[in-house]
Amino acid sequence: MRLSIVVPCYNEEAVIDLFDVRIRETLDALNVDYELCYVDDGSKDATLDKLRALATGREASTRYVSFSRNFGKEAGILAGLRETTGDAVVIMDADLQHPPELIGTMLDLHRNGHDQIIARRTREGDKPLRSAVSRLYYRLINNFVDVELTDGVGDFRLLSRRAVDALLSMPEYNRFSKGLFSWIGFDTVTFDYRNAAREAGETKWRFGALVNYGMDGLISFNNRPLRLAIYLGMLMAAIAAAYAVVVTALAMIEGPDVPGYVTLLVAIVGLGGLQMLMLGLIGEYIGRIYYETKQRPHFLVKETNTPRSFGVGVQATASAGDHPVPSRLEMR
Ligand code: UDP
Ligand code: MG
Repeated sequence: MRLSIVVPCYNEEAVIDLFDVRIRETLDALNVDYELCYVDDGSKDATLDKLRALATGREASTRYVSFSRNFGKEAGILAGLRETTGDAVVIMDADLQHPPELIGTMLDLHRNGHDQIIARRTREGDKPLRSAVSRLYYRLINNFVDVELTDGVGDFRLLSRRAVDALLSMPEYNRFSKGLFSWIGFDTVTFDYRNAAREAGETKWRFGALVNYGMDGLISFNNRPLRLAIYLGMLMAAIAAAYAVVVTALAMIEGPDVPGYVTLLVAIVGLGGLQMLMLGLIGEYIGRIYYETKQRPHFLVKETNTPRSFGVGVQATASAGDHPVPSRLEMR
């Protein structure tokens, strides 16, 4: 059995060497045949130089792909998954927040027949506000989306080969990986681990990015928000009709009543705001359709040490095609 490790790296020069040492130690101790698939996501520091050095002389066990610019972690994971040849794949961060020791546990569970083995971090040591917001978000969002999204579950997981192939068969441009992992299903188990602090370097998450990520989670997986908009519209129309009846009745009984511009103003502003919101919502979906129809590749490769042709041209056609599992069939 061969195990592949996918590691997206963006500006990780401070920690990547240590990561490489730790992961090799762990895998050697586990006595498995392995390959490391590093993806340099357009780092602006010396990450690529370090990856080159790490791979030199160890081509059989170490691959790297370097993007032409920063395409985001989701693209990095996709590129890494396409690179893998193993029977099982572990996706993990380069900053050692995903403890390599857990791979042993994952392998045991995989041998028991599970396809997706998810390590869920506890929120110990997090800022209280941030964990409270996350918890609230996950409670709310699961009422809206069709897939199950769980707090503390990230990309750290082991996937069987068929789970990886299922992921690669989804060509969508907008890759909200938490949702994709959940969507493919298969036999899934989750276990908890204590959250670790980043070894070195700094997090790439800013508050704005987190808000956008939350929005992606809501919109990427279904059209329930659109349905909600329809219901809200119906509700407003019903209220308006009822109000019209009341006003007409009052006018007939007590004669016309001219003042009432406050009601009018509130209604205009309120409905205007609501309409803007709904338009924005529709716009979000249209924006996503726009990106999907362009069929652009998910990333462009600048440099790689893989024997397979992972060139820019091949990449462009491979990820743009609409037939299933294009990358694996065309590029090997
Ligand atoms: N990462 C990436 N591309 C990006 C941002 C992050 O490949 O645009 C990688 C990063 O190098 C790390 C992982 O994704 O290996 C998680 O990033 P980070 O530690 O900044 O996120 P956090 O752990 O704070 O959620
Ligand atoms: Mg991190």
